[in-house]
Amino acid sequence: MQVATLLYHDVVPTGQLESSGFCGAVANRYKLSCDIFDAHLLAIAVCRNLTIVTARELLREPASRQCSGLFSFDDAGVSAMIEIAERLEAFGWRGNFFVPTNYIGQSGFLSAAQILELHERGHVIGSHSCSHPRRIDELNDCELQTEWTDSSIILSDIVGERVSCGSVPGGFYSARVAAAAEQAGLKILFNSEPVCRWFKHGSMWIAGRLPIVDHTPATKAAKLVVADPMTILREQVLWNGKKLTKSVAGRLYQRASEWLHRHKHRSRNDSTDDTLLSLVTGGRET
Ligand SMILES: [Zn+2]
Repeated sequence: MQVATLLYHDVVPTGQLESSGFCGAVANRYKLSCDIFDAHLLAIAVCRNLTIVTARELLREPASRQCSGLFSFDDAGVSAMIEIAERLEAFGWRGNFFVPTNYIGQSGFLSAAQILELHERGHVIGSHSCSHPRRIDELNDCELQTEWTDSSIILSDIVGERVSCGSVPGGFYSARVAAAAEQAGLKILFNSEPVCRWFKHGSMWIAGRLPIVDHTPATKAAKLVVADPMTILREQVLWNGKKLTKSVAGRLYQRASEWLHRHKHRSRNDSTDDTLLSLVTGGRET
């Protein structure tokens, strides 16, 4: 099956980045202003021979057409209801919204009633884990199972039917993450690999997605959703470069951590250790 899935997060009025979803510099990079989102929708609407589909429709009937596109939105910020749903509906489209269930009803996130309303308006509700862990691929088997199973049960109770799809928080996909999702009964698992071809993991589809950030131009969104080969290739080169950087930085951190551990008793200056560790890890939490 071949589907170009766009990966959005929040859509917020200009200057109101903190009004929906997760906050902070990293999360904000994925939030589009309403004006830019409107421009995306207009550019996508004039794409020739494009059919916008939902995960529900694809489960009923796998995409047979050459050009199928899908809107996905992670994190379930309240903008899904306030800004996004109506805009999609104006074009006759529906979205696929992925919810980290521990955040339901918290400030800036969808409430249970809003999730139900989105479902009743034809949008698809899926799991985005319970806690939105920083590294879902590093959880143990039991924790992984809980993230997918509990979130699926909570969402199924809210919408009154079995939730059948999910998306991987932070894009930290692995075979273990997929196996736990399949065990929880999901039928489609979206990750963040910029590919359009879906493949099977047991009884479940694995679907890549094409990332949209705050400065993604409408022209590029339109090229992504029709799976323009050069645009997709550029995304794949970028993605693989990032993966390599993360992997090298991870190994560097591991070595530095071991070195610091070995030399801890010899060091008289803890702040030197902290500074070195911070340099190696890029200042992230350790
Ligand atoms: Zn997320």
